[in-house]
Amino acid sequence: MADVARPATAGPDPARPVSLDLDLRSQVLRVVWADGAAAVYAGWALRRNCPCAGCRTAREQHARTLLPVLRSGGGEVRMTGGRPVGRYAVQVHWSDGHDTGIFDFRLLRSLYDARVEGTAPAESTATAEGAGPARGGTRPAGTTPGA
Ligand SMILES: [Zn+2]
Repeated sequence: MADVARPATAGPDPARPVSLDLDLRSQVLRVVWADGAAAVYAGWALRRNCPCAGCRTAREQHARTLLPVLRSGGGEVRMTGGRPVGRYAVQVHWSDGHDTGIFDFRLLRSLYDARVEGTAPAESTATAEGAGPARGGTRPAGTTPGA
């Protein structure tokens, strides 16, 4: 909440989205960035990179104990909604009631730039409505979208 002091952007900021589309049916967040790049974020990838303190702590503990990050205790966690937070982030709500993750656009952009698993350029999924992302299918994440 302290991340408000930011200099006014003089030029095009690549971390500024011009389009945000949370597709709950496909469980993806589509973002078109100011520089023209288009990204698709799988819901599970967002959850895995959730920046809230609780999830960060959980990930650190998992990393320390070498336990798998995915705690699939029955049923995947799905995105149930979201809303923009100011002009700098988007807040995602999850089916397990989790809603404290606020995804700063710079975080989203960095995930895309790093090609983090679960993110992909939009072109690869633009035609297949309801189909899972073509990439990132190597991990059995259990994210097959329902028909
Ligand atoms: Zn979280």
